[in-house]
Amino acid sequence: MFARVGAAVGLIVLCAISILRVARPPSPVAATAPDTVFSAERALHHVEQIAQRPHPMGTADHDRVRDYIIAQLTALGIRPQIQSATAVGTRYQGAGRVQNILAWMPGSDAKGKAVLLMVHYDGVGAGPAASDDGAGCAALLETLRALRSRKKPLMHDVIALFTDGEEAGLLGAAAFVREHPWAKDVAIALNFEARGTSGRSYMFETGPGNQDAVSALRAARDVTAGSVFTTIYRALPNDTDLSEYAVLGLPALNFAFADGVERYHTSRDDVAHLNLGSLQHHGLQMLALTETLANGALPRQTTGDAVFFDLPLLGMVVYPTWLALPLAIVALVLAVIVVAPTRRSIVPGVVTTLVAVTISGVLARFVNLGGAARWSGVYAATLMLAVLAVNAAIYFAAKRRWPELHAGVLVVWLILALATSAIAPGASYLFTWPLLFALVAARSRNPVAEWVAAAVTLILLAGLVFSVTAVMLGVAGLGAIVLAVFTSLIAWLLAPLLDAVVGNARWAGAGWLAGAAVVVGLIGLLTVKQNADHPIRTALVYTENADSTDAWLGAYGRQDAWARLAIGGTISGPEWTSRLGQAPTKLIGRQVPRAPLDAPAATLVRDTIINGARRVVLRVNAPPGSMSLMMRATGAPVLTSSIDGRIVDTTRYRHHSPTWTMEYWAVPDSGAIVALSIPQGSHVDFDLAAWRPGIPTLPGVTIPARPPNVVPTQDGDVSITYRRTRF
Ligand SMILES: [Zn+2]
Repeated sequence: MFARVGAAVGLIVLCAISILRVARPPSPVAATAPDTVFSAERALHHVEQIAQRPHPMGTADHDRVRDYIIAQLTALGIRPQIQSATAVGTRYQGAGRVQNILAWMPGSDAKGKAVLLMVHYDGVGAGPAASDDGAGCAALLETLRALRSRKKPLMHDVIALFTDGEEAGLLGAAAFVREHPWAKDVAIALNFEARGTSGRSYMFETGPGNQDAVSALRAARDVTAGSVFTTIYRALPNDTDLSEYAVLGLPALNFAFADGVERYHTSRDDVAHLNLGSLQHHGLQMLALTETLANGALPRQTTGDAVFFDLPLLGMVVYPTWLALPLAIVALVLAVIVVAPTRRSIVPGVVTTLVAVTISGVLARFVNLGGAARWSGVYAATLMLAVLAVNAAIYFAAKRRWPELHAGVLVVWLILALATSAIAPGASYLFTWPLLFALVAARSRNPVAEWVAAAVTLILLAGLVFSVTAVMLGVAGLGAIVLAVFTSLIAWLLAPLLDAVVGNARWAGAGWLAGAAVVVGLIGLLTVKQNADHPIRTALVYTENADSTDAWLGAYGRQDAWARLAIGGTISGPEWTSRLGQAPTKLIGRQVPRAPLDAPAATLVRDTIINGARRVVLRVNAPPGSMSLMMRATGAPVLTSSIDGRIVDTTRYRHHSPTWTMEYWAVPDSGAIVALSIPQGSHVDFDLAAWRPGIPTLPGVTIPARPPNVVPTQDGDVSITYRRTRF
């Protein structure tokens, strides 16, 4: 009995170690620490200054943050400069007048290449952007300070780049990569971001040929990284400034903390919710890696991609991807030796495992938690226990008929190891290493070998499954399926050990596991609530048509109780309200009295025929106080276009829309120049929508204050003035 309890505790401890390693950021270092180290407490002072208010492009607070960073760099004795340029994004239909802040810190070996440190200082309109990316800016300022206070300068140069307009479509990074003379001096880049307000700063994306860059991570010691993340991220439609930097084809490492995604791009991305440990983790890695890279050879050697993961005590394990397949073949040879004597049990074992894993995945398909529950570890644990209960019952039933069915489990894992090694080697380590140790354990039938196999499996996978579910995808949809499938696969791999834990318990302990799932689920029901820290997101839109007397108050997308009360109507707006943003959807709300606002304008500068096409050159102006100007051209196909003389390159776009649209941020007072090439003899209907923050006072309309659990999101509440002009 004691041995069984001890074994159960051992397994739980292994899971806990694995989860804590990916969930808990390092402790923040106090401001009293020596001035050569990175202190989150010192860096927090910068966040407090930057994150006073929202600071999207085109607002006075944006310029306040710019001036603050420039003053801090100047105080450090590093002469900053501003790259002021029209940026045209290559991932999204966006452009804008950016002001990148750059600083060059010379190394002792002046001839060489430089290490680029990137963060972005703009934020979304909805919130003060303390984490995204105030924390990155603060970490960079504190890192530069720590480097300056060291007696010995770094060997190579360091470029600090605070990009502008990341939220507007990676605009600042696009302008740096294409137009700044320092771009050619870069050897390697480190980018720091956030998709939440807490958690560890994961290294989740790399540049091409990452084996060399990833090996450098060993210097930072306390790193969470795995080639499974970089492999998956490459296939996802997500972007940071590194997506524009990718044009340079240089090595890079991208870091972000991602826990607390409910507060991402809302007013709760504030100083109070920023986890100091997350800030410390940003800085700890930034400082250690800058030292290592700038004191090593630059440019770095060219390598292929690597399989990599971090382990307790050992640190980063890194090997070239070509080794993945030979390792899987070693597993194949071992598997043949191990399962051959139990030939008859292989097919039933394979079938039982596949049936159990499929049932687990299908069950999870129906779990679709929303709001705070979606991001709760308590509900993740509930689902895991429920899946274990189902699998224990299947195991109990199958084991009575085929006592040797574990051979089939090993074959399923072998197929997974071989398949990932061949198709996605970055993910192969998740299957190959647990399998290799499980094969040794199955061959020896030695309890020590079984425990080593359990330790390798749980340390590698438990934390990963936790971070994929509770941090990245949530306990819903794909996140729930990943949790269920991996729980099932792990349980079957460790079945001989689990068998010893449950002993001869009826239904292999399924009843106990189901009971535990109910208890943990009840704890979730009682403790996990939508509140100020786990808020509902909503944003209001006031819009008026300058060509008529029409004005509307409403929202795009679903309305919560507060939004319904504030808007007071759920009528679908007229057609023109679908021409105000990137997505062609109508505003839902009601007609309201107008609060006359200045409207945007487009005027014809030049109208010529070039190479058989009509070239219309327009000057567009936005009213004072606008963040951005949304432009849309219909009625004729736009063959080519340019913004302030820069060609719009659509070849790298994430989405190709049939309509020409362009959102221009921070329109200069003198206006922006837009040139459109359309077929000769055709005309274009040119829509303009100027976006500014806040809802004006509307006669007879009272908007109640938001309750604490409802927060503005993305651009926040906005007013949009619309106009259509025919050219
Ligand atoms: Zn960001």
